[in-house]
Amino acid sequence: MALNKVKEFSTKDFYVNILQERLDSLKYKNKNYDKCYFAFFSTSIGADFKLYPCCMTKYSKKYCIANLKKLKVDRKFFKRWSQFIKNINVKRCPTCWYDNFNSMCQYYCLGKDDFENFIN
Ligand code: SF4
Repeated sequence: MALNKVKEFSTKDFYVNILQERLDSLKYKNKNYDKCYFAFFSTSIGADFKLYPCCMTKYSKKYCIANLKKLKVDRKFFKRWSQFIKNINVKRCPTCWYDNFNSMCQYYCLGKDDFENFIN
């Protein structure tokens, strides 16, 4: 409600975007997809210098991909990162505003085995 008030500051020269669709998507708790595709396109770094798949999972131990203080970035790391994302059990994820994105990706990936097929 308060955010809707903020929108009133919009003028013809100044647009206030409150990302309403993100807020709306948090109302839906059921994830109708099996994999997180979003995390292949983005990642999140916490103030604790740790790497997480997304901002919703930040600071949760079970979602920590790597500690940036100790990280050695090489091919093995990218493989581990990719495997970590593939292994995320989205049904155990917190409520997420990327549900629509993931649903759409899954729709386009139906019948394909993995992410490499998805991007080709
Ligand atoms: S919370 Fe959403 S974006 Fe984050 S890892 Fe889970 S499904 Fe992916």
